[in-house]
Amino acid sequence: MKTGKDVNKFGLYISDCCALEVPFNSGDVFSRCPRCSSLCDWEMADMTPAEMKTLIGMVKAEEARSGRAVTAGRLNWKNLRLGTSNGVS
Ligand SMILES: [Zn+2]
Repeated sequence: MKTGKDVNKFGLYISDCCALEVPFNSGDVFSRCPRCSSLCDWEMADMTPAEMKTLIGMVKAEEARSGRAVTAGRLNWKNLRLGTSNGVS
């Protein structure tokens, strides 16, 4: 899925240029690569059910904190792959 296209499915996506992992929500638009700022292709990453649950929990927590819908691309998603699931029960 290229930069500028609509996101159809919530999930974690990987940029083809930098292999950067970024979550996008359905209704988002695929951004440029946050690392190199170039137009890129996004490929959906494989996630375990536990990782998906953590990611969804992060989105809900951020929405509760900010009081409005957030795009997954703005989340601090790095904790996901570091296995930092403290506080998520
Ligand atoms: Zn890049």
